[in-house]
Amino acid sequence: MTDSLQITDIKVDGYERVVRGTDAKSGLRAFIAVHDTTLGPSLGGLRMWPYASDDDALFDVKRLSRGMSFKSAVAHTGLGGGKAVIVGDPKTIKSEALYLAMGRFIDALGGRYITAEDVNTSIEDLEVIRRATKHVTGLARKDGGSGNPSPYTAYGVYLGIRAALGWKFGNDNPKGRTVVIQGIGAVGSALARRLIEAGATVFAADRNIERLGQLQSEIGVKPVDEKQVMTMPCDVFAPCALGAVINDQTIPGLKCPIIAGAANNLLLEPRHGKVLADRDILYAPDYVINAGGIVNVSVEFNPGGYDEKVALSRIERIPQALKELWTISKEERIPPSDAADRLAERIIADARGVKKAQALPPNPKGRSGC
Ligand code: NAD
Repeated sequence: MTDSLQITDIKVDGYERVVRGTDAKSGLRAFIAVHDTTLGPSLGGLRMWPYASDDDALFDVKRLSRGMSFKSAVAHTGLGGGKAVIVGDPKTIKSEALYLAMGRFIDALGGRYITAEDVNTSIEDLEVIRRATKHVTGLARKDGGSGNPSPYTAYGVYLGIRAALGWKFGNDNPKGRTVVIQGIGAVGSALARRLIEAGATVFAADRNIERLGQLQSEIGVKPVDEKQVMTMPCDVFAPCALGAVINDQTIPGLKCPIIAGAANNLLLEPRHGKVLADRDILYAPDYVINAGGIVNVSVEFNPGGYDEKVALSRIERIPQALKELWTISKEERIPPSDAADRLAERIIADARGVKKAQALPPNPKGRSGC
């Protein structure tokens, strides 16, 4: 039987491989971008989204895969950066045939791209994909995977907030501090729990009013109106919902000395990192502070398999990584967001240099190099 899956390469400068996969039988239309595998196989989640066009999907998969390279580099996960997107409305296109076709698409890359959960895909979807490829991570613990990454992301963000408090105020204890969380979903709620346990006062906004009310009675989160969440005076603003919330419209209203949260791509444009620095707002670069989830998944590649203790000890390095970035930022007078990008690029370039040197033929006997 011939496979109806069609795979087309798209040449994109700066990316190792970008491919489009279509399958007429299941209706699959997907893209995989392998940004860089210098540090290891590329790993990044599979997103399903009703993109308006293929160009929009391609733009997103490229942006997200590059972000994964940088995140993994700074977190020293031993992985490269990749991402996959399926074009379509998750309410209507999900099917077993579609995920099996996606699995075959992933498998065709021979392990250079490894998938995981992302927006609009679940562990159940990954289980179907795994029937067609072994290059799947983030499965349930009972299936040998590392499970839901959100509590680990929240742990890293919590430690990152403590590091930011220490850097800004000389005392990292959250007791008596006020933290405002935007979006109290999987990560935001776990973060709120930790902060409240440590004695902080936590205000939060969420579109889901019911969930907010539940967390108010369960753990004492104080609800805030969605429209006021970014203008409330506080010690830390922790965005845990959407990207691009730090922009020209919102920055003038901010009344926080620290921004440290889980959401990806928080700055609408790179230049907003400098706008924050000019206002003396300490920024914890998003892909550094929210790396707990990918660090947890990366432990699946350990020779002995997943081990939570190893994962936690690696997540506990996030505060040190942030402090290094804030130091570079201070010494080189660049925003922490730029310091993070530079560090990631340097880590990848250094590893590329070492690989190239290792690939050179040995020096012939008796001849000295010069
Ligand atoms: P989630 O979907 O569980 O939670 C997001 C919450 O934000 C939801 O409760 C939603 O109702 C709320 N929300 C949406 N729009 C809002 C708005 N305008 N104002 C206030 N609340 C709003 O997602 P999550 O897994 O908790 O992830 C949160 C963020 O962190 C996302 O940006 C995600 O990309 C990022 N992130 C998550 C992980 C992880 O391990 N889950 C890892 C890295 C980064």
